Amino acid sequence: MSSLIFGPITSRRFGQSLGIDLSPENKQCNFDCLYCELKGAKTVQKVSQAPLVEEIIDELKEALLKYENIDVITITANGEPTLYPDLAHLVDEILKIKKEHKLLILSNGSTIDQPEIQSILSKLDIVKLSLDCVNPTCFKKLDRAHKGIDIAKIIEGMKEFRAHYRGELVIEILVVEGLNDSEVEFQALNAVLQEIKPDRIDVGTIDRPPAYAVKGVSIERLIELSHFLENLHVTIAYKKNYIPTRRHFCKEEIVALLKRRPQSFEDIALCFDEESLKNLNALVDENVLHVKSIAGVNFYKVS
Ligand code: SF4
Repeated sequence: MSSLIFGPITSRRFGQSLGIDLSPENKQCNFDCLYCELKGAKTVQKVSQAPLVEEIIDELKEALLKYENIDVITITANGEPTLYPDLAHLVDEILKIKKEHKLLILSNGSTIDQPEIQSILSKLDIVKLSLDCVNPTCFKKLDRAHKGIDIAKIIEGMKEFRAHYRGELVIEILVVEGLNDSEVEFQALNAVLQEIKPDRIDVGTIDRPPAYAVKGVSIERLIELSHFLENLHVTIAYKKNYIPTRRHFCKEEIVALLKRRPQSFEDIALCFDEESLKNLNALVDENVLHVKSIAGVNFYKVS
């Protein structure tokens, strides 16, 4: 299989995925984030060295025949996939062959204020956009966007898109020590996220060598910060070797906890002791709680 299609990859957040790389040769991005796992590079406004739609579709057809049990087809890039000049045509061609697979894009969100990008992305089943900071100074330092890209316009674009998008909108926040790990920044993020109303928020930190000398935060800090995101479906990217502290929750405490914020299966499995898990299952049997799946992640919610 050539480098345009990669996978299948099993992701805890989206299931079994086949990826399409719209910039296989080099990084082409309108951001140069401090935490990027690709080498730092000058920002661009367009993907210029790009595969043809026909090449991608031929390889995708082959991959779909070869691999069974694919849940999602993921449009991504070594850079920003919405800068691919033929994105509208590519999406239409994938929709013709994708059958029951969900179509997902991973974007840095920089172009979501553009009506034509909103129109293309509205055809996808899942759209995942990054939003690391609300504060323009933080955005400038952390995401190092191409000249003219404005975080206020991105946020307005996200709100507009949400207002008509019927698929699942996921927002990702990547937390970097000393940049967007403050309570003030998370309070500001919470305020705009209440307006954007994403279906899910994925909170994570650096877990691969970054392009520049920055550090991630501890999982305990991610958990603390996630508490500022009220009444939203939040997942936390736990590191593989993370050893959690399991706590006891009586039934009343579980209901109070889930009223404040739904919890993913993974959060519950990591943080509840055995007795608490029994209490949780009893509440599900009593229909006090139910399970809701959002873009491939299951959450417990109060009924
Ligand atoms: S948006 Fe993604 S690819 Fe672009 S610089 Fe940031 S992390 Fe790297």
